[in-house]
Amino acid sequence: MGPHVVPVASDLACPAAADVVVVGGGIIGTTSALYLAERGLKVVLCEKGHIAGEQSSRNWGWCRQAKRDPREFDLIREALGLWRGMDARIGAATGFTTTGILFAANTPEREASFADWVKEAAGAGIHAQMLSKAEAAKQLPGDTAPSKAALWCASDGRAEPQKAAPAIAEAARRAGAVILTDCAVRGVETGGGKVVAAVTERGRIATSTVVVAGGAWTRRILKDLGIDLPQLKVRANVLRTSPVENGPIPALWDHDFAFRRREDGGYTIANGHVNVVPIVPDSFRFCLDFLPALRMEFASLRLRFGPRFFTEWQEAGRRALDEPSVYEAVRVLDPTPDTSYLRSAFAALQRRFPVFAGARIVQSWAGFIDATPDAVPVISPVDSVSGLVVATGFSGHGFGIGPGAGHLVADLVTGARPIADPKDFRLSRFFDGSRPRPMAGL
Ligand SMILES: Cc1cc2nc3c(=O)[nH]c(=O)nc-3n(C[C@H](O)[C@H](O)[C@H](O)COP(=O)(O)OP(=O)(O)OC[C@H]3O[C@@H](n4cnc5c(N)ncnc54)[C@H](O)[C@@H]3O)c2cc1C
Repeated sequence: MGPHVVPVASDLACPAAADVVVVGGGIIGTTSALYLAERGLKVVLCEKGHIAGEQSSRNWGWCRQAKRDPREFDLIREALGLWRGMDARIGAATGFTTTGILFAANTPEREASFADWVKEAAGAGIHAQMLSKAEAAKQLPGDTAPSKAALWCASDGRAEPQKAAPAIAEAARRAGAVILTDCAVRGVETGGGKVVAAVTERGRIATSTVVVAGGAWTRRILKDLGIDLPQLKVRANVLRTSPVENGPIPALWDHDFAFRRREDGGYTIANGHVNVVPIVPDSFRFCLDFLPALRMEFASLRLRFGPRFFTEWQEAGRRALDEPSVYEAVRVLDPTPDTSYLRSAFAALQRRFPVFAGARIVQSWAGFIDATPDAVPVISPVDSVSGLVVATGFSGHGFGIGPGAGHLVADLVTGARPIADPKDFRLSRFFDGSRPRPMAGL
């Protein structure tokens, strides 16, 4: 089971028409709904389960510029600015705070690549620096084996995933959006190459614009519209601890573990270098597209054949829009966590930081990351269907960039000046021969 998420009640009536229907109530769908509603549009957000039930409540909570793909520099800089003003904007707490984030560099290769990254980021107005061992130790008192060097981004921070998207959804509602939970969108109706309606389990909503922010389901949703989005899932695991007194404030990624302090005094902890990739029918379909990413992340990915293959095989079939859909059958995608990776991460952390010795594991969970071949999101109109906008494929780092992405969605829908250049996020990059490659990975 996933973590407890602040509940968001559903509005009761499903409107017959809207300016925009947003599919998905994660951080991307809720921020999109907020910025669209603030601009005076009639917005309906449909979430098949509960708000932030999937990735957006299960993540580490890192809002980081550090080690980002340069194609995301402008958007993450803007996103951090939006996070800083979010609580005041929405009159509620998202738990955002600036803590700084460290990435340990224990090999000369990693140190050199981080140093190059720091130079490139500086050109985009992102201030980060390389720390020596002594400087890294100063940021993390109590570390008995500080790394040789580290990448440090003091202006990075974290928000609380179990409350941020719910708080933003409530704010979108106050701005005029209708929020429907337990309300799957079964499909998008088109006519003459344009969006005409979103068909939900509670009824049809006539609209000229649908924003698909369906996380790991987006490939499935687009497939029914004849759009072959290359997207695969990666299973990532997390545990949370009981409160730890005087624990480190900045977040740290190292090879064996990653952690960040939570608002409740406990820590969110993960294994720094293992993620599981279930082999599914789409793995074969997209194996060439994902080959560069697989090569880049090979040391950290574990390919696994199991029941997920048959689940996705069964889910792939098309269903009539007046029949219950797979989205209703799976209200919340809740994979079983790989606890052995988590236990080894926790043990490594306790050995290195004695302050964690008395901490208990309170809960663990997993989530499916929606990955694209270049590990850069798609935030884009769809050329073949007028009125369809997609925001997906955040490849394991969409929470921090979420408010920037939601703002960009609203810009694309309303034709406003985009908050960041959307060129590198266009969907067509996968079909126009560009064959974009990953630069920073998951
Ligand atoms: C373990 C883990 C750790 C991570 N750590 C970080 C981190 O530290 N920092 C960071 O920036 N990112 C992190 N990420 C990634 C981040 O969580 C995601 O990129 C981000 O939450 C994606 O948001 P989303 O709104 O696109 O997707 P989601 O949060 O997955 O939301 C999509 C929603 O769409 C709904 N939906 C799907 N289909 C339909 C339908 N047909 N009708 C109605 N609703 C539908 C789903 O139920 C779901 O709630 C992590 C991810 C995981 C799994």
